[in-house]
Amino acid sequence: MERSELDVLPLKAWGLGLDRPLLIAGPCSAESRDQVLGTAAGIVGHAPQVRVFRAGAWKPRTRPGTFEGAGAKALEWLHEVRERYGLLTIIEVATPEHVRAALEAGIDMLWIGARTVPNPFSVQAIADALEGSDVPILVKNPINPDLQLWIGALERLNRSGLKRLAAVHRGFSWGGATPYRNHPMWEFPIRLKAAYPELDLIADPSHVAGSTDKLQEVAQQALDLNFSGLMVETHRDPQGALSDAEQQIAPNALARLLDALVFRRAAPSGALRDTLVELREQIDRLDADIAQKLGARMEIASRIGLYKREHNVAILQPERWERIMAAQHALGARIGLDRVFIEAFMNAVHQESIRHQTAVWEAASGSPANAAERLENGSQLPLSSGSSARKT
Ligand code: PEP
Ligand code: MN
Repeated sequence: MERSELDVLPLKAWGLGLDRPLLIAGPCSAESRDQVLGTAAGIVGHAPQVRVFRAGAWKPRTRPGTFEGAGAKALEWLHEVRERYGLLTIIEVATPEHVRAALEAGIDMLWIGARTVPNPFSVQAIADALEGSDVPILVKNPINPDLQLWIGALERLNRSGLKRLAAVHRGFSWGGATPYRNHPMWEFPIRLKAAYPELDLIADPSHVAGSTDKLQEVAQQALDLNFSGLMVETHRDPQGALSDAEQQIAPNALARLLDALVFRRAAPSGALRDTLVELREQIDRLDADIAQKLGARMEIASRIGLYKREHNVAILQPERWERIMAAQHALGARIGLDRVFIEAFMNAVHQESIRHQTAVWEAASGSPANAAERLENGSQLPLSSGSSARKT
């Protein structure tokens, strides 16, 4: 991955008295003064570990005709939360007007939502409006799994002089089958953290899970992966919520969730490190085994490629591929591997196999064009309308 420099401060250097784990809670949307203040009172009463109160004033709804937030008047309610309960406040901004209104109202922190981050024009307009301010900003992952867009948004803000930056992982839209509202694809935040170790990662298990029953599991996974904090949608009356009702929890449920979670230490030390070193060595050995097995698989794929060439059979055989995929899904289910992972992994393996087979054809016919033509004109066409068919 192309690595740029990000000059960011870890959250404990933000000057707000914050540290790991940073806990953020509050409703999806600010609906009314009563709802905002009632929810804040519940959070302070049940879960005093929470330091930051979230609420959306302007809601980016996928379809029109649903509740789009209370707008600028919600900023006054948040101000009241700050004064009454001593919680820091955070809202979502999507336009320069939102930024100006939030800064004027003294909101402590801002976040940029998953539907805004993918648009460089929007992010740049926000970054321009923030120039000269040093308000902390949380940048959610873009709705689509694109690490470059996530990094790009952080870079744009950083170039406007903002250093109090953190990233929020809220999962990605996924067309395939997934038990989550937004599939976590943990490898994306892991790669972001590997590229920018000083950047704090906050998990938003509410938008990943999309339902209250998977909240705990997702939050724990994030903590196990060394995330610095959590943002959990909390509403005094979740069932009556005007947006994201299925995933919000009441303040007492938030307290139970936080109590049940195991918060991990940031840096390994002492006995923990020895165990970690040993486990990492085991992982390295397994990774080497996997690479060797994949190499062996590709060698066989090349031999099959030659055989197919001799018999003038198309490289891609969708029915065979569907059988392999079904078998892998069945095996994966037995050993606890996620369907989405199996699909992505096997598709990558398949693409590489096809590349090997095609290379053998090209080498044998002496001309890539000739090989391509054979593919097009083979007795069985290489691409059928089968759902698993992949282009090489
Ligand atoms: C939210 O936090 O309520 C929200 C709209 O989130 P996202 O941008 O992650 O969908
Ligand atoms: Mn929401």
